[in-house]
This record gives sequence, structure tokens and C-alpha cells, in this order.
Amino acid sequence: MRTDSYQGHDYYLMDEWLSEEQKLVRDTARAWVKKEVSPIIEEAAENCKFPQHLLKGLGEIGAFGPYIPSEYGGAGLDQISYGLIMQELERCDSGLRSTASVQSSLVMYPIYKYGSEEQRMKYLPKLATGEWMGCFGLTEPDYGSNPGGMITNFKDMGDHYLLNGAKMWISNAPFAQIAVVWAKNEAGRIHGLIVERGMEGFTTPTMHGKWSLRASDTGELIFDNVKVPKENLLPNKSGLGAPLGCLDSARYGIAWGAIGVALDCYDVALKYSKERIQFGKPIGAFQLQQKKLAEMITEITKAQLLTYRLGQLRNEGRATTAQISMAKRNNIAMAKEIVSESRQMLGGMGITNEYPVMRHMMNLESVITYEGTHDIHLLITGMDVTGFDAFK
Ligand SMILES: Cc1cc2nc3c(=O)[nH]c(=O)nc-3n(C[C@H](O)[C@H](O)[C@H](O)COP(=O)(O)OP(=O)(O)OC[C@H]3O[C@@H](n4cnc5c(N)ncnc54)[C@H](O)[C@@H]3O)c2cc1C
Repeated sequence: MRTDSYQGHDYYLMDEWLSEEQKLVRDTARAWVKKEVSPIIEEAAENCKFPQHLLKGLGEIGAFGPYIPSEYGGAGLDQISYGLIMQELERCDSGLRSTASVQSSLVMYPIYKYGSEEQRMKYLPKLATGEWMGCFGLTEPDYGSNPGGMITNFKDMGDHYLLNGAKMWISNAPFAQIAVVWAKNEAGRIHGLIVERGMEGFTTPTMHGKWSLRASDTGELIFDNVKVPKENLLPNKSGLGAPLGCLDSARYGIAWGAIGVALDCYDVALKYSKERIQFGKPIGAFQLQQKKLAEMITEITKAQLLTYRLGQLRNEGRATTAQISMAKRNNIAMAKEIVSESRQMLGGMGITNEYPVMRHMMNLESVITYEGTHDIHLLITGMDVTGFDAFK
């Protein structure tokens, strides 16, 4: 079992910009991860199973709904604190961060933003503690990057809605108590519905065979004439903008999370470079290895600056979707490059589970694909700067 001796890297002294509360939130998350998750994460990834006993602890460190007001059970924190928690979770494993991201930004956020007061009071406190878990059903077998084409639909039956269709690639689906599901009404308008486990005709088969994000459970959502009570429709927003608003929040968290992965791989490579002796000296004394390390910390520092500023804009309610896309896309590409360089620096040891690098590398293949692919985020930036839509 690897000892997690990570202490963080702050080349541009950005901690000086953090408040005492933000530092406390980050350090609490880091200490919890090191004690509770680092010792078991390789085994969880090998077994392809999310360790559900972690849910209570995730709730306790404020990882579920960090920015949801405390009257609904959330931690009532700012956006930078939220980002720092995501960074610390993903420093350990992208699957761990995914579980928390989905719960916070894709389940609690839409209930908080688009839900009725009754829905908020019923669901948010239980979701904040991890007593209940949720999942977010947008992607369908035939509609991934183009979710507006979805065919999952519901009909108004007078005293209830009748839901039919299928979603796939849904994180947390196999064990979630509730699903926030996006479906079209008879007029073709997209709405969010809260579907609860146990409703007749609703099943959540697990998806198998993933080589990536193995410590996060992924499944399908199948709706076969599911009767959904009318009070389970999210009343305050409809249209594709509703699920996309949730994705903004989740993608922002991913931008921070990717920095966590990069920091972990830099940390591992730096330590290894000082310990591994070849040709009579530490490999860190060779210029080729120093080039890799110097470029890693340069790219990490640039991403930290970009993302901190984005956090400030989010706190002020001024961050745009395109700005979030830029950070998500940049930071994952940055992390992928660093993971690859780090793996090479570890030589043969880099492919083993003695080190987290190969697991991070595989995880990033999901992170670069979900919540908008690398290509889609480029198109968002392209459209933002030119005014031309190159999606279709
Ligand atoms: C592990 C994992 C967990 C996930 N969790 C969730 C979840 O919880 N909830 C949920 O709803 N979804 C989830 N997803 C789904 C994820 O969001 C989709 O996989 C993603 O949106 C891409 O859709 P797709 O896989 O259908 O790829 P496609 O949309 O089929 O894309 C295939 C390729 O075509 C490219 N492409 C598509 N359109 C264009 C275009 N207009 N121009 C240029 N290139 C284009 C893409 O960039 C990509 O390279 C998850 C996925 C994974 C892998």
C-alpha cells in the first residue's frame, strides 16, 4: 500500500490569495482523502467498484453541495472552496471527484435552482449528507454531444406523467436513490423530472468493461412506462439551457479537479526523480528529466491562475459558459500531458499500481470525454470568439 505523503505545490504563492476558510476547507478535504481514500483507491479501481462507505465522509467534508446554502443542508461555501474540494478529491482519483460532482452540480444544483421549495426541502438535506445519492440522466445511446436530439419523453396522463426512454453512461446510476432525468414533453420541450428508485418500470443496469474511471459506478437508466408524480417535475426552468446550466457548474469543478491530477503526477515524478539513481546520479539531475519537471510546474501554475480567476468570476456571477469551457478543456489537456510525462519518468514502475499515474492516465480518458468532449469545448470557444456556430 502506497503512503500518501502529498503536501501540495504552490509555485506562485497563490495560497496568499486564499482566505483562512478556503485553506481550511482544502486542508480538511486533503487530510480526509489521505486517511480514508488513498489507502483503498487502487483496490477500488481494480475491483471496478465505488467504495460506498466513503459517502458519509464525503458529506462531512462538504463535498456534496459545497455551495448550496446551509438552510438546505449544504456547506454554504464560495466557488473557490468548491473548486478546492474538487481538486483534492481528483488529486486522489477522478472517479471519487465524479461521484461528488454529480451529486453536487448535476443533482443538488438543479433541484436547488429549478426545483420547488417542497422539492428542495425533501431532497437537498438528505443529498448533502450522502444519505441519499443522485444521478443525472442526459446522455442517450444515440445522443451524446447532441443532447437536444434526445428521444426520452413523457406524456401528461392527467394525474401523473408517463416516462419512456433510456439513458446511458450515467455516473452513480447503479446505487443512486434518485435520478434527475431530462426528457421531452409532448410539445418537444425538455424538462427535468426527479425519478425515484422503486418506481415501477425504472431500472438501472450497471455498465461493465470500463478501463477508465473504474472507481466510479456507471450505469444505464431504463424507463418503461414509469409513472412519475406531477410534483416531481422541476418547475422553474425548461429547455436545453436547464441541463446545460448544471453542466457549467460541473465543468467548473472538473477544471479544478484536473489540476489535482496534474499536481499528484508532478509530485510523484519529482520525488521519484530525486530517489531513482541511474548512471550514478539521481535521474532528476539529468537535463532531460528537469525539462519535463520544469514544464510540468509551469503548465500547472498557468492552469492554477486561469482557474482561480474563473473562480472569482463565478463568485461574482460573471463567468460565462465559454470561459468555463476554456478552463475545462485547457486543464484536462494540460493534465493529460503531465500524466504522460510523469509515467515515462517512472520508467517501468510507472505502469504499476505502486504509483497512481497509470490510473490517473486512464481516468482522464473519461474526463476529456464527458461533460462535453475536447472537440465540443473548442467549438464553444470558437463560436464565442467568431459568432459562428460550427456545431452543425
Ligand atoms: C465514464 C463516463 C461517465 C459519464 N457520466 C455521465 C452522466 O453522469 N450523465 C450523463 O448524462 N452523461 C454521462 N456521460 C456521457 C458523456 O457526457 C458523453 O460520453 C459525452 O457527452 C460524449 O458523447 P458520446 O460518448 O455519445 O460521443 P459522441 O457525441 O458520439 O462523439 C464522438 C466523437 O465525435 C465528436 N463530435 C461530436 N459532435 C461533433 C461536432 N459537432 N463537431 C466535431 N466533432 C464532433 C466528439 O468530439 C467525439 O470525439 C459519461 C461518460 C463517461 C465516459
